[in-house]
Amino acid sequence: MSEAVESLNFIEHIVEEDLKNGYSKQDLRFRFPPEPNGYLHIGHASSICLNFGLGLRYNAPVNLRFDDTNPAKEEQEYVDAIKRDVEWLGFKWDTERYASDYFQQLYDWAVELIKKGKAYVDEQSSEEMAAQKGTPTQAGTESPYRNRSVDENLDLFKRMKAGEFAEGTHVLRAKIDMASSNMLMRDPIMYRVLHKAHHRTNTDWCIYPMYDWTHGESDYIEQVSHSFCTLEFAMHRELYDWFLDQVVDSNKLRPKQREFARRNLSHTVVSKRKLLQLVEQKVVKGWDDPRMSTISGLRRRGYTPESIRNFVDTIGIAKRDNLIDVSLLEFHVREHLNKIAPRVMGVLNPLKVVITNYPEGDVEWLDTENNPEDASAGTRQIPFSRELFIEQEDFREEANRKFFRLKLGGEVRLKSGYIIKAESCTKDTDGNIIEVQCTYDPKSKSGSGTEESLRKVKGTLHWVSVPHALKAEVRLYDRLFTDESPDTHKDKDFMEFVNPDSLKVITGYLEPSLSEAKAGDRYQFQRLGYFCVDPDSSDEKLVFNRTVGLRDTWAKIQGK
Ligand code: ATP
Ligand code: MG
Repeated sequence: MSEAVESLNFIEHIVEEDLKNGYSKQDLRFRFPPEPNGYLHIGHASSICLNFGLGLRYNAPVNLRFDDTNPAKEEQEYVDAIKRDVEWLGFKWDTERYASDYFQQLYDWAVELIKKGKAYVDEQSSEEMAAQKGTPTQAGTESPYRNRSVDENLDLFKRMKAGEFAEGTHVLRAKIDMASSNMLMRDPIMYRVLHKAHHRTNTDWCIYPMYDWTHGESDYIEQVSHSFCTLEFAMHRELYDWFLDQVVDSNKLRPKQREFARRNLSHTVVSKRKLLQLVEQKVVKGWDDPRMSTISGLRRRGYTPESIRNFVDTIGIAKRDNLIDVSLLEFHVREHLNKIAPRVMGVLNPLKVVITNYPEGDVEWLDTENNPEDASAGTRQIPFSRELFIEQEDFREEANRKFFRLKLGGEVRLKSGYIIKAESCTKDTDGNIIEVQCTYDPKSKSGSGTEESLRKVKGTLHWVSVPHALKAEVRLYDRLFTDESPDTHKDKDFMEFVNPDSLKVITGYLEPSLSEAKAGDRYQFQRLGYFCVDPDSSDEKLVFNRTVGLRDTWAKIQGK
């Protein structure tokens, strides 16, 4: 086996087998089939990368198909958001399709089924039908309406379509097997009455097809060769095949459903229904809140499409559900931003430093590299002056030898600038340090080539010149849930695990080059982490989101 073949995932093996057994490459066609009832989340990214990845690998078309059969929950806003997110992730669909485009065809096929005696109108309540379902080991009971005449069924189904019946009073059921060991085969519902306007077909229809009846037939209409879905549909495969058996023409391609594991991410939820709850209950500010597991939330948080694709590649496609640690996702964004994000300096918890031997009113513009990982990123000028901010955590009056930051009598280098020495400090009446007085070594300027500039001191600190500092709102995010898998507890609702401290808003002091920063721009704030400009930013007020800190917890876990 060549290496390339060995690295195939099991889904790709299924396709390879089919190619060996008679499919031609021209037969291959895939689809990504979201229901437009919410925004896409990181779990969907797996399905998107899988389906569009197959399209790229085999040069086969991939449709974007909206599975829009439930007008009660679906909206145009979601359709637009889904398209935006798939494109942003870097994929191009062949054609944009809607299950609702097939409503007439599905209806016509349903009429055929009735004529063949394979579907009937039931007018029991859903409770009555549920009571007749039986158990996996006990056969169900047949509906009293199961053996209506074809003509009566045709008449009732037409009247369902014409709007004569109220919701919940009539359904069309497939007549399969009330004793099947697969409960889904016990006369599943194909149509229900819903007097709701649909975001595309408006009020043309008041009966809507169910998922199982719609999905396989839509695949068939589009001549999708492989219909990949998540494991919870494994039991539905028998029904998918039964419905196809009723309509497939032998000289056309017959789609195949295969299943892969759903991806779950720790400390969050990946379910549109639950994400909607967070939005509606205002736990977050919206679907694209940077704390959300949505693609749009991750985008706003500062994630790049590459980092998400790399993450999805790394976790691969699995046959069993499992939980992926969110720190792996963070590892990937850190890795990508390390390559592309310009370095800047900003202080988030400021402590004033006065350099007593630096001439008052003087300013020096220091030439500084934008990205040590990327020489083509060029340089910029940052101002140095007598009054600077450093982080409060970077100064102590006294500290042991392992503290490589600034302490009284000790020296540190200011990044791209000079070596300074702390001489004294001032405290407020509560004993908090409010200012540090330092001296600097005028010959120690970074990159000046003097002996002093090459002198090694243990610590290097980031800093910002006080008179030049730009004030910005900085939003620091933490995990949205305190529990690793908030929605797996039997006795507790996932909402009970919402982290009350998932957002902290502070004021940061940033180097003046950032005055030009635009929404979406990403930076490394040196020694602090990766940050990006939030769309809430304006000319009056810069707003930054912390994408991720610099510390690599994932590598630590892996390396232990
Ligand atoms: P949700 O519960 O969030 O609504 P869903 O499966 O109902 O998820 P769909 O819009 O039907 O969402 O999903 C479109 C495609 O994405 C389906 O093929 C589905 O199997 C897949 N998908 C959804 N969630 C995940 C996930 N967590 N991991 C992998 N694939 C997923
Ligand atoms: Mg769904």
